[in-house]
Amino acid sequence: MRTAVLAVQGAFIEHERRMKELGVECFEIRQKRDLDQPFDGLILPGGESTVMRKLLHELDLFGTLLDRIRSGMPVFGTCAGLLLLAQNVENAEGFEPCFATMDLTARRNAYGRQLGSFHSEEPFGTLGNVPMTFIRAPFIESVGPEVEVLARVDGKIAAARQGNQLVTAFHPELDPDRRIHAMFLEMMRGR
Ligand code: GLN
Repeated sequence: MRTAVLAVQGAFIEHERRMKELGVECFEIRQKRDLDQPFDGLILPGGESTVMRKLLHELDLFGTLLDRIRSGMPVFGTCAGLLLLAQNVENAEGFEPCFATMDLTARRNAYGRQLGSFHSEEPFGTLGNVPMTFIRAPFIESVGPEVEVLARVDGKIAAARQGNQLVTAFHPELDPDRRIHAMFLEMMRGR
């Protein structure tokens, strides 16, 4: 199994660390020719969604990655990565839809500037409680019928899955718990 990690901006190294701990080979996508390598899954990290979206287009990565996501290749978006996959974004503050492959509405910087970052531990799907680190996070306001809700924090949707697309509003890569990355690995294996 090989995972590609979008590495144009943001917190990509921590994702690579988690996947490597699970025995998965990782490589970074920084420019168009990196897409020539084979890969079984893609991680869209946290960072600044407006910048990532801009670079995806400027570096001509967008079309190829969109085709791969649409064809069912597993993708895991955290925080800004969630926004890149969302069909609709509220409180967008200059962000425009990017891949727009997940039938959900996200709210950008949803917790306001006062509560920029916080930590919690909440149930996640069938995994039991998992640590959740939020950094100027979005939350998911609503989801379409194809989307499974995996976690809620304060009643707000913080993680979801639609087919081979997995998103978390928080940063599982920043905590030592590897179970969500292991879940993504299972999605890659299942394909
Ligand atoms: N607030 C950022 C954005 O809207 C996301 C923050 C993050 O990825 N930690 O792009």
